[in-house]
Amino acid sequence: MANTRGVREALREARRIVVKVGSRALMGGGGLFEVLADQVRRQRASGRQIVLVSSGAIGLGRSRLGMGKRPKDMPRLQAAAAVGQSRLVRRWEDAFERHGVAVAQVLLTHADLTDRDRYLNARHALDALLELGAVPVINENDTVSVEEIRFGDNDQLAAMVATLVGADLLVLLTDVDGILDDAGQRVPLVDDLDEVTPYVRGSVDDLGSGGMASKLEAARRATRRGVPVVIAEAARPGLLAELLAGGDVGSLVLPRGAKLPSRKHWIAYTLRPQGDILVDDGAAAALRGGASLLPAGVVGVRGDFEPGDAVRLVGPEGEVARGLARYGTADVARLAGAQSQEIEERLGRLGSGVVVHRDDLVVTEGEPASAGRPRPIC
Ligand code: GLU
Repeated sequence: MANTRGVREALREARRIVVKVGSRALMGGGGLFEVLADQVRRQRASGRQIVLVSSGAIGLGRSRLGMGKRPKDMPRLQAAAAVGQSRLVRRWEDAFERHGVAVAQVLLTHADLTDRDRYLNARHALDALLELGAVPVINENDTVSVEEIRFGDNDQLAAMVATLVGADLLVLLTDVDGILDDAGQRVPLVDDLDEVTPYVRGSVDDLGSGGMASKLEAARRATRRGVPVVIAEAARPGLLAELLAGGDVGSLVLPRGAKLPSRKHWIAYTLRPQGDILVDDGAAAALRGGASLLPAGVVGVRGDFEPGDAVRLVGPEGEVARGLARYGTADVARLAGAQSQEIEERLGRLGSGVVVHRDDLVVTEGEPASAGRPRPIC
């Protein structure tokens, strides 16, 4: 693992920071709302802009409604979120009001970010809030988000928000020091997520979100867009100040490889694939080399997608890339194996002639298969 000093120092320059805090930390007592509000206020006073991503709606709603066990059915979870969300924001309001800082509730659904226009609108609104000096407190709009259309969890939401607002840093707060290795030691610096993935495989938190595995998935999302990520302990006194002074706290995950342009990142890490296009070895190699997918390389199709939808391109060894399909499922099936001169005959029209254009394509090979899959709420 790389040496930590210089890269830690670079965090002093971070100006726009997204901080995600989960239900477990917030509801664990210890007055974390007030503690974090105080830390955020101090950072703002030194010229930084902070966006909070806060869970807790379902937990607070459950306790207010006297729901003993976590309900299993979606409508009751959604109802709990509706009751809890207003309480959650009230807690943040109270915590920030003492410092005269305005709080802005922002509820997002995955669909808000999959539509490119709405995505850009959300960005402009968040920019305006930050310029006006408010602290956006973002959560998923759980009451209208059923399982199939969810972000996955708030770690993923936070990663998408970090790329949406062009953050310099994403901080994922949790109840441990950071990523722990097999000996239980904190890993201070990660420059290759694949090296630490074995430490956390299978760890799933049953309260609120997906635990450390989900944080690594979020870290992958954010770092592909060039945003460094720190995973650190929420309850550590003075955490933000220490971190932003370049201190060695938590696990810092560094961006690796070329930073994806905004639109390509959105295709691969915000859109949810609606199906798979199966490709042969030759096409898989061509995709890795940056080529478009032509009908000749297609061997099959799964799922149900329309032209313009996101799809996975799957080779004999697994996922190779993600991209936007230029034809729908039925047409891709008809085109499988076709040479260019056969396209018109098979479809009765030519269309674009390309199944996925390289401008709409991102190589994702080797990344965990779970990326982009929704997880159950709470
Ligand atoms: N949005 C959910 C809530 O506020 C939590 C989801 C998560 O933490 O991943 O309760």
